Amino acid sequence: MTERDVMDFDVVVVGGGPAGLATAIHFANLVERHNAAVRKSGHGEEVAPQICLIEKAAELGAHSLSGAVMDPKGLDALLPGWRTMEPKAPVEAEVHDDYAMWLTKAGGFKFPITPPPLKNHGNFVVSLNKLVKWLGGIAEQKGIQVFPGFPGAKLVREGDRVTGVQLGDAGIDKHGQPKGNFQAGGILAGKVVVIAEGSRGSLTKQLVADLHLEGKNPQVYGIGVKEVWEVPKGQCAPGLVVHTMGYPLDSHTFGGGWIYGMGETEGGKNMVSVGLVVGLDYRDPTMDAHRQLQLMKLNPKVAPFLRGGKMLHYGAKSLPEGGLYAMPRCYGDGFLLVGDAAGVMNSMRLKGIHLAMRSGMLAAETAFACLQKGDTSAAATVAYEQKMKADWMHEELWKCRNFHQGFHKGRLAGLVNAGFATMFGGKGTFWSDELKSDAGHTYMRKVGEYFGGKGKPQCDKLAEDGTLTFDKLTSVYSSGTLHEEDQPCHLVVTQPDLCSTRCVEEFGNPCQHFCPAAVYEMEEKAGTKHGVELKINASNCVHCKTCDIMDPYQVINWVTPEGGGGPNYTNL
Ligand SMILES: Cc1cc2nc3c(=O)[nH]c(=O)nc-3n(C[C@H](O)[C@H](O)[C@H](O)COP(=O)(O)OP(=O)(O)OC[C@H]3O[C@@H](n4cnc5c(N)ncnc54)[C@H](O)[C@@H]3O)c2cc1C
Repeated sequence: MTERDVMDFDVVVVGGGPAGLATAIHFANLVERHNAAVRKSGHGEEVAPQICLIEKAAELGAHSLSGAVMDPKGLDALLPGWRTMEPKAPVEAEVHDDYAMWLTKAGGFKFPITPPPLKNHGNFVVSLNKLVKWLGGIAEQKGIQVFPGFPGAKLVREGDRVTGVQLGDAGIDKHGQPKGNFQAGGILAGKVVVIAEGSRGSLTKQLVADLHLEGKNPQVYGIGVKEVWEVPKGQCAPGLVVHTMGYPLDSHTFGGGWIYGMGETEGGKNMVSVGLVVGLDYRDPTMDAHRQLQLMKLNPKVAPFLRGGKMLHYGAKSLPEGGLYAMPRCYGDGFLLVGDAAGVMNSMRLKGIHLAMRSGMLAAETAFACLQKGDTSAAATVAYEQKMKADWMHEELWKCRNFHQGFHKGRLAGLVNAGFATMFGGKGTFWSDELKSDAGHTYMRKVGEYFGGKGKPQCDKLAEDGTLTFDKLTSVYSSGTLHEEDQPCHLVVTQPDLCSTRCVEEFGNPCQHFCPAAVYEMEEKAGTKHGVELKINASNCVHCKTCDIMDPYQVINWVTPEGGGGPNYTNL
C-alpha cells in the first residue's frame, strides 16, 4: 500500500473559486473578530485554527470561467470595503446599459423592455479569473495556506464522516506505473472539509451518490462556451450588457447568449465577452455548443460587435441549472458543500458568483461555531442549512426555483412560466409549486427517433473562416490547455465496448459533438462492429465536465488529472 504523508488542519477547503475563497476569507475574519473580542473583554480564549485551501489549477483563477456580470451583494457581505480596497478589486466596468435581443437566423430585434431578471444596473462586468486571483491574495494575507496545483483526488471517510482529502498522485505514467518523479499525494486531514469544487465536482459526485444526498430533483446543468475578443474602441463600450434568446437554439433547447463590454487591453482596445449557455438536457444527439456559438457570432445582430476584432481567449465550463429543488443535502458529518457544488446558482439571472460567496460565508460561520463547540457531526453542521434558509440567498433561489424545469415543456412554456414567476415574485408558478425533472442525459433522443425516417444526423458542416468563426482545435489552443501527456487518462470510460457498438447505432456517438474541446473522436478501426473505435484526446480537456454529465449511458467518469493540468484561462 502507498504510504502517504498526513497533515492536520481544522478546516480543509477543496476548490479555489469564489465559494472556496469566500469560505476561507470569512473564516479568517471570524477568527480575527473572536480574538479581538477576547482581548477586549478579557474573557474566553484566543484561537488559532489551521485552515488550508487546495486548487487543481496551477495557479488560482486558471480554471475560473464565468460570463461574468457580478451582482455585488456577495462581495459587499464578504468584504464591505472592497470598492476602496488596495490592491483594487479587478472589476472591468460598472454596467451602464443593458438590453435583451431575440435572434432569428437572418437577424433579430431588441426587446422593447429588458426582462427584470436580465436588468443589470448596479452590477459589475468582471473577469472571474482576475477576481479569483485577487481574492486569493487576500486569503493569503489573512494567513490561509493556499495550495494551487493540488487536486483533491479522493475524500477520506470513516463511514459517513468525511475526515480529509487525499491529494492526487504525481508522476504516474499512462499505464499506471510510477515514473522516476513519482510523488504520492498526501492526506489533508480536516475536522471540517468544505467542498467548493464548482459544477459537477468529482468528489461531490461521489459523495452525493455514496451518502444519498440528492435533492428532490436530480441536478441539471448547462454548458457555457465563451470567447473574449479585442475589438476596436467604441464598438462595444465597457459596461454594456446584452442578453440574447432564440437563434441558434431550437425551441426545445434551453439557453441563451450574451455580449458584455469589458475593460481595455494594454494596447488600448476594448475587450468583449461573447458566449452562449446551452442546457444539458437537450434532445438533439448532435448538439454541439461550440458550433452553436460560432453560428451565433454569424448572426447580423451579433457580428457587428466583433467586426475588425481578434479572438483572444476561449473556454467552456458547465454550470448547475436545477435550482433550489435540485440542491443536494449540503451538510453532513465533517463536511459542507458550497457554491456551484451545492447548486446555488440563479439560472434565471445567469448569476452564481454572489451566491457562491454567500454560501461560503455561511459555511465558514457554521464551521467556526462547530469547532468552538467541538462538534462537527451532522447534528451540528445542519446549522449551515438553517442559515441558508434564513438568508437572502434562499429568498433569491426560491423565486426562480422552477425556472429551468419550466423549459422542459418547450421555450414558449418556459418563458410564460418565468414571466408568471417574475410577476408574482415567485409566489405562483404556472403549473405547480414544484416542477419535476429528470437527469439531463435522459432527454437526449436516439438518432433514429430524432432525425425520423432519415435515420442519420443532419449536422451540416460549418465552414469556419478563422476570423469570426473557429474550429474546435483552434479554440482549444486559445484556452491555453495543457496536460502532462504521460499520465493515466482522466476521462475514465467504464464500458468502452459500448462506444463502438450500441452508441454508434443508438446515439451516433454524441461525445464527438457535445465535447467543446475535441477530446472525443471516433477513429476508423478495422475489425470492430462498425469499423470505428473511440479515441480520447485527454490533453485537450478544458475541465467543463460535459462528458460526465451528458453521456447517454453514464459510462464516462471525469476524475482529476495530475495537478496543474487543464486550461489556463486569463480574462475569462
Ligand atoms: C459560462 C458561464 C457563465 C456564467 N455567467 C455568470 C455571470 O455572468 N454572473 C455570475 O454571477 N455567475 C455566472 N456564472 C456562474 C458562476 O461562474 C458560478 O456560479 C461561480 O463561479 C461558482 O463559484 P464556485 O466557487 O462554486 O465554483 P467555481 O468558480 O467553479 O470554482 C471551483 C474551483 O474548484 C476547483 N476544483 C474543482 N475540483 C477540484 C478538486 N477535486 N480539487 C481541487 N480543486 C478543484 C476548480 O478548478 C475551480 O477553480 C457563469 C458560469 C458559467 C459556466
